[in-house]
Amino acid sequence: MKIDIVANGRLLDVSIGLEATQSFSCVLSPPDGDVTFVDVLPEIYEIYTNVLGVNFEESEQNGKPVRCGKGCVSCCHQLITVSVHEALLLAHIVGLLCQEEQQRIRSAFDESLTRLENAGLFRDLLHSHVNAFDDRELVVDAQKRYWALGLACPFLLDDACAIYPYRPFICRQYGVSSDPEHCGKIFQKDHLIERIRLSHDFGSAAASFDGLEAIKTRAIPLPTIFLVHGMLHCFERPKATAEVMIARFLRHADKHFSR
Ligand code: SF4
Repeated sequence: MKIDIVANGRLLDVSIGLEATQSFSCVLSPPDGDVTFVDVLPEIYEIYTNVLGVNFEESEQNGKPVRCGKGCVSCCHQLITVSVHEALLLAHIVGLLCQEEQQRIRSAFDESLTRLENAGLFRDLLHSHVNAFDDRELVVDAQKRYWALGLACPFLLDDACAIYPYRPFICRQYGVSSDPEHCGKIFQKDHLIERIRLSHDFGSAAASFDGLEAIKTRAIPLPTIFLVHGMLHCFERPKATAEVMIARFLRHADKHFSR
């Protein structure tokens, strides 16, 4: 089975392998001209929604339906990490909101950073995820310490995601077939979480892609995105037409981050 991707009326010369019985098309309207990967992230999110739909349906057919329900926000208390591209997009999206909403979000981020700083975790989080992501012990230790703080994602306002259409890959790909109550007790051996098996891990693919080629994985802890935004913005990023950029990423994800 393959997914046909039509961007601005043209069929892209790329396909991603999926185990499903029916092909389907994904019609996109990406921006014109040369763009960075950040500029086509909304289109990539749209493609991934379709891919995940196939994955979740397949899981259901195999007797493991997704048990995540509306209003369950346990996963929004885990450490959320994003690619550099997603950090830039989220900062941009927040800048487009009304002043009152921006203020609400920025206050929640300030509060998160203060809690991390007071717990002595701020630097460790950045170091483990940005500089030493291949050191699993260090990364998991930081994640456990974060979880122990009981911090909600700063985008979780009144139990709803304030940037839901632009939520990161990691949030989109979190689906469980185990009892949702277990998600509130992660890192406990007697509450194992069974994740839905995905054909592609777009989150990891984005964190190891610079818009042109594969790079060393860099995961930005979500509470720090406004702090690192200025620095990230300074780096020149590869550009290409939207069609080329989308195809480049899909090849990268299909080659390195598919099961
Ligand atoms: S970005 Fe949204 S969906 Fe993701 S953890 Fe935060 S509040 Fe939850």
